[in-house]
Amino acid sequence: MRKTFTLVTIVLTVFLSCQEKVKEEVTETAVKVEDAVIVHEEYTKPEPTEPEDTEYYEPKVPFVGPATGGKIPSDAIVLFDGTSLEHWVSAKDSTSAAPWRLNKDGSMTVADKTGDILTKQQFGDMQLHIEWRSPLPVQRDNQNRGNSGIFLNGLYEIQVLDQNDNPTYVNGQVGSIYKQGPPLAMASVPTGDWNTYDIIYHMPEFNADGGKTKSATVTVLHNGVLIQNHTAIQGTTPYKGRGVYEPHGAAPIRLQDHGNPMSFRNIWLRRM
Ligand code: MG
Repeated sequence: MRKTFTLVTIVLTVFLSCQEKVKEEVTETAVKVEDAVIVHEEYTKPEPTEPEDTEYYEPKVPFVGPATGGKIPSDAIVLFDGTSLEHWVSAKDSTSAAPWRLNKDGSMTVADKTGDILTKQQFGDMQLHIEWRSPLPVQRDNQNRGNSGIFLNGLYEIQVLDQNDNPTYVNGQVGSIYKQGPPLAMASVPTGDWNTYDIIYHMPEFNADGGKTKSATVTVLHNGVLIQNHTAIQGTTPYKGRGVYEPHGAAPIRLQDHGNPMSFRNIWLRRM
């Protein structure tokens, strides 16, 4: 009698457990269907049975003129088109014009010891395009050869470096998040040729107390090659010590004067 009672208890427990699982799965499916109804206004069936059930036409996607044939996207903000440095200021004194050299070929070059430059405008999440070139003839080596950097929100450096035949620490090499994340590949063109960076950046998020709730992330294509894949940034990128997160909002982009005559051209971005 006691054995029979135990057996019935076990069977009942397993049965109820299975019922609970089925109930959970049904609820989950119901939520997904509900989401689909919200997205697709004309959806009227409990489960899609026709191809058209899962197609919708509104709202329409805006047209953006493509970045082909030397053009930039039609909705891009131009930060440097080779005609002036009007969108930039000195990082040493933001009331002063950017002190770098404007060249006749539509590029600008770091003027030694003049310091970094900042965009006048502040930016948050963005798609940034920038082209850079290391000087010839090569001078010095390691971190002192063709070094510059692109600081997102003015704080987080994507390294620019003449890496050709120039070994250095991998988390400081070209395309690294400086002293944090090495790139997935080294994709530089020969020294003296123009490199491109296409950068997708999402800002960090902070709560009301200033605590970080979400790390910044960055994706980088170097000459069309994926070198950072939605990498979480660990904080600021100092030469010495660990990076930190301090609360901030939108901020200027900063280009680094590392004492090398690096050149830049064709800089534009799209806000996201
Ligand atoms: Mg640098």
